[in-house]
Amino acid sequence: MVEQFHTPSSKDVLPRPRLVRGRFAYSSTDDTSSNDSTMPLVTDDRLFDQCGIRVAFTEREGGVSKGCYSSLDLATHVNDDPGAVEENRRRLCAALDVGDDPLVVPRQVHGNHVVTFTSDRGIAFDEALNEAHEGADALVVSAPHVAAMLCFADCTPVILVAPGGMFAVVHAGWRGVVAHVVVNALNVLCRAASCSALSCNAYIGAHIRSECFEVGSEVVDRFRAEFGDAGIRDARHVEMGDALRADLMRHGVDNARIVELESCTHCSNDRFFSYRAQHGVCGRHAAIAIRSN
Ligand SMILES: [Zn+2]
Repeated sequence: MVEQFHTPSSKDVLPRPRLVRGRFAYSSTDDTSSNDSTMPLVTDDRLFDQCGIRVAFTEREGGVSKGCYSSLDLATHVNDDPGAVEENRRRLCAALDVGDDPLVVPRQVHGNHVVTFTSDRGIAFDEALNEAHEGADALVVSAPHVAAMLCFADCTPVILVAPGGMFAVVHAGWRGVVAHVVVNALNVLCRAASCSALSCNAYIGAHIRSECFEVGSEVVDRFRAEFGDAGIRDARHVEMGDALRADLMRHGVDNARIVELESCTHCSNDRFFSYRAQHGVCGRHAAIAIRSN
């Protein structure tokens, strides 16, 4: 056996973030069916290969929901058929090999509260789960085998990953952006992982982009108060991705470790759910992460 010295474990330094869209197979519930199928997911395969952390952003394709929820609606609070949502979640978990690990989905309230999961079972897990169900827009997961999922239709999904494999999944609409929910999650994550923000990866998912995101002047004023000119396009339009990037960098994240999907949920309503494009009646796509070791 050859011992290796001075070689940091691959988890000590994360690979630079890189998001690529791929297709992931899920098995059918029907054993007689040979029509196993796939769903598109945007993920960082290099992060998974080197560190065992799977981060993923879903799209609309790959589920069984109908109409305005078609087809991979992952939210239980939007009046979709509960059986369809259950099957959609089952497919996503199958595609990501979640297995019997718990899938945690908080009640999102457009706030800045962060709930931390330090265990995949027991009293600590149950208490964190209750807290998440009371209302939270950011989950920090320090334990392996806990899948954390948040749901979106125009708001901005963010996943943060620390060296060692702890991660955060965050929901940031404009209220969450100006309330610094992402930086709150970053701070909790860095304390839990005993790391600096400089070594973390940040993944910003598809959201409604500024050209489609007309807001009142009071929203623009809030952005200016919190982020200066970052994110402000004009008197009625703001770009949440730019504001979040500025906020993350101000709090120590390396710009080279922030990746962002350029897609606009409103413009690409065929690929993503959009609250504005669908006049408030729609399903939800998701950001999800889980560590396997
Ligand atoms: Zn757009």
